[in-house]
Amino acid sequence: SLPACAVLDAAEVAKPFRDELKLKVSSMIEKPLLVGFLGNDDPAARKYAKWTAKSCAEVGIRFELREVPRVELEDRIIDANADSSVHGIMVYYPCFGPSIDQYLQNVVAKEKDVEGLNFQFRYNMYHNIRFLDKEEKLKSTLPCTPLAVVKVLEHVAVYNPKLPFGNRLHGKHICVINRSEVVGRPLAAMLANDGAKVWSVDVDNVLIFSRGVGLKHRNHKVSESTQKLDEILPLCDVVISGVPSPSYKISTASLKEGVVAINFSSAENFEASVVERASFYIGSVGKVTVAMLERNLVRSVEYQLEQ
Ligand code: NAD
Repeated sequence: SLPACAVLDAAEVAKPFRDELKLKVSSMIEKPLLVGFLGNDDPAARKYAKWTAKSCAEVGIRFELREVPRVELEDRIIDANADSSVHGIMVYYPCFGPSIDQYLQNVVAKEKDVEGLNFQFRYNMYHNIRFLDKEEKLKSTLPCTPLAVVKVLEHVAVYNPKLPFGNRLHGKHICVINRSEVVGRPLAAMLANDGAKVWSVDVDNVLIFSRGVGLKHRNHKVSESTQKLDEILPLCDVVISGVPSPSYKISTASLKEGVVAINFSSAENFEASVVERASFYIGSVGKVTVAMLERNLVRSVEYQLEQ
């Protein structure tokens, strides 16, 4: 008999997006230029930059890594904002720490912010505002890793295409273990805005993100929960984990039969036996993240051309 669990490869999820991007970029006379600023000596950032360069080259996007002392980052970002040959800007964080890094995220011009970290994009995302304009032509940019997880869930049809757009997770129970500002919290908000009930778990507490009974709210509300992880997991159709610790393991025994299990941490958060319980399992989403970064870039070029 066939194995009950499909182990997914992020490359398979990314492929249709990359194919579409290749086609679009091939018709552009000036190939889009993405500039990545590296202001720290984090080996993980360097590795991610290498992958980004390789993936961009395959799609036809130009990628330039600019290594700068972190104290010069602000000026160099401002230069890139003003340089019309630069179409997208990304910065490898952390550089200074949360508050200065957040300031730098807002120094990047909105039109070139392919990571979706600008205040307006974040505000729109939390408030379920999907467009920048009244005509609903210009989409508000979403952060790449949360968006990559959404694409994985669309790929395995957890998003129900028979439901209206924006409500396609109605009735789904999802647990997100990680509440960082770059991934876990925006992800919980996006999934809840799409109709799911989301338990957002971090090391200190549990919050519930939900649009309420009958999706009565137009964007998610947050409430405190006293439930423990081992009570939450058996309820969840999807479990998404991003705990950056190799010793952290989610017990397979507490997962719901047929769960969709997604690990985005660099460490493996699920036990090897997860495949005995899950219907789909994916061990990393990095390749989908890069595809979303490229998609945000190409979209911003299209928007810049239209103006
Ligand atoms: P972070 O350190 O900012 O956040 C870690 C989160 O995990 C926090 O919310 C923390 O409370 C939670 N956590 C830690 N221990 C926990 C525990 N025992 N129980 C419940 N929650 C716990 O990290 P981050 O930037 O969100 O990155 C997390 C991981 O995801 C890293 O391994 C990183 O490399 C990876 N990552 C992957 C991608 C990608 O694949 N595209 C993108 C970003 C980050």
